[in-house]
Amino acid sequence: MKFVDEFRDPDMAKSLLDKINQIVKEIPRCQQRPLQIMEVCGGHTHSIFRYGLEQLLPKEIELVHGPGCPVCVLPMGRVDDCIAIAEQPNVIFTTFGDAMRVPGSKKSLLQAKAGGADIRMVYSPMDALQLAKKNPDKQVVFFGLGFETTMPSTALTLLQAKKEGVSNFYLFCNHITIIPTIKAILDSPDMTIDGFLGPGHVSMIIGQKPYEFISRHYQRPLVIAGFEPLDILQSLYMLLIQIRDERAEIENQYTRLVPESGNRQALQAVSEVFELREFFEWRGLGSIDHSGVQIRQSFAQYDAERHFIVPNLTIADPKACQCGEVLKGAIKPWQCKVFGKECTPETPLGALMVSTEGSCSAYYAYGKIDVDNL
Ligand code: SF4
Repeated sequence: MKFVDEFRDPDMAKSLLDKINQIVKEIPRCQQRPLQIMEVCGGHTHSIFRYGLEQLLPKEIELVHGPGCPVCVLPMGRVDDCIAIAEQPNVIFTTFGDAMRVPGSKKSLLQAKAGGADIRMVYSPMDALQLAKKNPDKQVVFFGLGFETTMPSTALTLLQAKKEGVSNFYLFCNHITIIPTIKAILDSPDMTIDGFLGPGHVSMIIGQKPYEFISRHYQRPLVIAGFEPLDILQSLYMLLIQIRDERAEIENQYTRLVPESGNRQALQAVSEVFELREFFEWRGLGSIDHSGVQIRQSFAQYDAERHFIVPNLTIADPKACQCGEVLKGAIKPWQCKVFGKECTPETPLGALMVSTEGSCSAYYAYGKIDVDNL
């Protein structure tokens, strides 16, 4: 297939759905409770809702929306740290657009900008580096956020800054890693996930090998999946074949973009610039060992956390907010008490309502939920 429309072909989707409907009848475990399949990545969550795939699946399959949206798992304390940096004199604070509206304990970056802080939206860390070169009398900070997908571009930007001797550029590093997080989910005592749709974008960088512990130690299958409707349906079908055959393997449906061993140049840049943090705090999931990276000592001059004073506090989510339960798959977004009422995409109370990849935002936009009758 060459064009995107071909990955949305209704006849092929119907054929895959027929196969899915057939195969669930061959899995005895489905008769006791629905199979729980977690889509790890927020991009998958968005596609599943955008194309209405959840409603097309048989009742024997329950999709659980995982933690793979970096904006959604950003704890309030880190947003407060961003604002503390941005409000310091002589600072230009740069960020991707979807982080602007994430609520901190008192305000979001957008509200801080409205209050006079020099906060600018950029499309890449290289844009922020250019800004630093154009404004040598300012301290330009880039808010580095995201999984292994965005980590290489941030690493390459620091390598470039060093090469060019730029001395007024800083990174506030909030990059996180997916593998320890999947492990934390697998280790949780109430874990009932039967299989995983693996994150396509992250896998382009890390390849297949890092997932092998999931099949080896936890006997759960994982299929790395693309983001179009046929990708997702085919990946689900591949998972169901494994479950029926009582296999637990790592398979790759997204072969058109995910090489088996990942992207070596990207991994090399990441390991040159970053090292694992001892732990990182995730919204709703708590502190997870080795689940984030920090800047290596050899790049310390670019580290905003060493250069600026930040509060670095752990801030609890508002009481009404049930983002943590949604992130762990314990409740559906619409079961949160404030869904569609106090918490909407225009006035998000929790981070899952901010990003289009957040499951609450996806349910709100595409889930056809009658919020007046919840
Ligand atoms: S509705 Fe809002 S507060 Fe509730 S879980 Fe979703 S994002 Fe969090």
